[in-house]
Amino acid sequence: MGQVACAEAARLARPRTRPAPSRAIHAAVMHCLLLVCEAFCPRRLGASPGKARGPGPASAARCRPFACHHAAHLNKAQPSMRLTVSLRLAVATAFLAGSVFAQDARPPAAATLPLADVHFHLMTFMTPADLKARMEKHNIQWTISAGAFGIPDVATPMERDAGAQQLLKDRYIPATGLYETYHAERKVGVRLYTDQPSPEREELLRSIEEQLAVQPRVVAEMVPNAESSSVLPTFRRRIATDGPYYRQLLTVAKKQGRPVPMHMQFHRESVQQLSQLLQDQPDGIVLLSHCGKDSAAKDVRVMLEKHPNLYCDLSFRGAPLATAESRQDPARLIFWGKSLFQSAGMKPEWRQLVEDHPDRFMVGIDDVHSWGIYDDTVTAIREGVLAQLTPATAEKVAFRNAVRLFRLAAPDAAVAGAEPAAQQRAP
Ligand SMILES: [Zn+2]
Repeated sequence: MGQVACAEAARLARPRTRPAPSRAIHAAVMHCLLLVCEAFCPRRLGASPGKARGPGPASAARCRPFACHHAAHLNKAQPSMRLTVSLRLAVATAFLAGSVFAQDARPPAAATLPLADVHFHLMTFMTPADLKARMEKHNIQWTISAGAFGIPDVATPMERDAGAQQLLKDRYIPATGLYETYHAERKVGVRLYTDQPSPEREELLRSIEEQLAVQPRVVAEMVPNAESSSVLPTFRRRIATDGPYYRQLLTVAKKQGRPVPMHMQFHRESVQQLSQLLQDQPDGIVLLSHCGKDSAAKDVRVMLEKHPNLYCDLSFRGAPLATAESRQDPARLIFWGKSLFQSAGMKPEWRQLVEDHPDRFMVGIDDVHSWGIYDDTVTAIREGVLAQLTPATAEKVAFRNAVRLFRLAAPDAAVAGAEPAAQQRAP
């Protein structure tokens, strides 16, 4: 060990060809070595026995593994070099301390960027005050509802969304349509979406249109295809994405300048139908929930390149939410935060897709069953998505795309550079 350390120290002692920071670190290491040897083997370094601070002869044996030969050489033969080493130590210390303090003072931008959560369900265990505290903790400037969960005999989904909006003001955008659609489907089945005009569909669309007119409000998550991806049995089916209901809904949302979020697994027929819908209504905007849920990056790329009116949210495509589903279907997991077993990351084909279309992606938290999972989801978004992207793209994905698409108000200086909402137009 001692021989190896000595050889290594000798190798490191050739600083001329090394870059400056490396030389400084080397000098610091060598100087520390010298101090250790002075403490434990003063005789080898030529110190007088009276001034010896080390524990005596036994220390000489302990010293050998520390390659004191090199340190003694520095001490005896080259006093001027020792001075140089001390100066280097000071420089190296300042350099290292500077790096550490700079990191403390300025954490990576991805860790602190303001966020707009564009896909969120207010769960039954959450209160608006809880949510506000969590948003403040994570610098989430806006939360956009995809449809709240109601609490029977206490509050309907719409009332719960309204409660959150009352507290959070412009920072919480309530939704309309999720549970209205769900209940209408439970009543009349899938003919709600596919048959020729029916009173139920007309009534449902009239209600959504009326609610959307009360701004701010957005269309909730619609579910044309959740064959293998919904906790609600009613939604585990595939219906035509370009059927009459979705066509009319896109028209209604377009009038209010709102996108229609669609939870649509990437079944070949569903993709063809979505393509038809987007082509037939180029002014309507579809926000693909979970970016297609089980989609491959190459298939989403084709759609984004073909349809400028298609956007993606990355909710439920990262750890921890997508981890369990990814055991059956690995395609469902796109990104993850760092853990004991792996560093944070994003699948390269997805990272490239986002970089190639930086204006089309947003982040979302979706439905979580504890605040701990909420926290972990935000961490995965920051570490597994934003930190993997170039700074300009990360900023767009974190909040700028959402500010533009949903015409969000910039609430304070935290969103430095965000345009005032009044000057923005939905694409
Ligand atoms: Zn959702």
